[in-house]
Amino acid sequence: MALLPAPQTRTVDAIYAWHEAADRDGFRPHLGASLVGLRCDRALWYSFRWVARAVRTGRILRLFETGNLEEKRLVTELRRIGVTILDIDPATGRQWRLQALGGHFGGSVDAVGVGFPEAPKTWHIVEFKTHNSKSFADLRANGVEAAKYQHWAQVQVYMYLAGLDRAMYLAVCKNDDALYQERIRLDTEAAKLFITRAERVIDATAPPDRISEDPDSRLGCRWCGYRGVCHFDAQPLLNCRTCRHSSPIANAHDGTRRCRSMNNGKAAPRTFISRHSSPARRSPPTLGALGSTTGCLTGASGATRALGHDRPVQLPARRR
Ligand code: SF4
Repeated sequence: MALLPAPQTRTVDAIYAWHEAADRDGFRPHLGASLVGLRCDRALWYSFRWVARAVRTGRILRLFETGNLEEKRLVTELRRIGVTILDIDPATGRQWRLQALGGHFGGSVDAVGVGFPEAPKTWHIVEFKTHNSKSFADLRANGVEAAKYQHWAQVQVYMYLAGLDRAMYLAVCKNDDALYQERIRLDTEAAKLFITRAERVIDATAPPDRISEDPDSRLGCRWCGYRGVCHFDAQPLLNCRTCRHSSPIANAHDGTRRCRSMNNGKAAPRTFISRHSSPARRSPPTLGALGSTTGCLTGASGATRALGHDRPVQLPARRR
């Protein structure tokens, strides 16, 4: 019997391709508060230094968009039940931004709100998250701090920087639309430790110690986007963040870095960063001088050897 031809998925492929084409590079000028609860200092440092670009397929990008669409729905629902919810900063007309460490650390807050039935007079940081059913069950059973420490760290930083002492964490299960809520109390000491950690990572001129020497470690290496650069000989991207001659400018407020080489200590041009940097284009005209004569990182092991290691910082203890 003749085999049937494989089903065509050109329409779906085109949708995924559209998302990939519309995707920006995924790099942020600042170290994101959403990451500061990660286990590994080195992963944070790699993120801040734009060492590798995350692989974002069309399906994954669409999944991110699903999270954003869910936020809009929850904002509408909160308004319907009488909560005053501000998802836009009236002063700027844009999403709320909180920052610290001269703008090199911070994040975008989903919303701030007041009028929740549990505490009608208290302003809250509001954080929306979506979960699959397994993650949602863990969240329900153990709470945000134990089940999603990274999310807990994020709202701690937001509360501290906003001067609020409560957060409302609202989660949606993507499988059955069930909702979960948790009011989180500010832990000032923890928030300060997270900011101290961010400062250490931002100021570090060397990759901090690995969380494990085993590239398959379940502590995080097995799934880490920096595994190739960190444990093997994958090439880091070539840009101003991976160049040892750039450093954060204090109080830049927008993540600007100083170039001590080509730009005589002035700000590194933002166009100099990332867009044209890939291992396949190691010597574009603007980067050639840095790459060849001023010591841009040319390999993970070389970088590690040349720059040495930094000490990891203390984090608030996890409860599990
Ligand atoms: S591979 Fe492991 S040690 Fe390296 S950055 Fe990722 S989590 Fe950290």
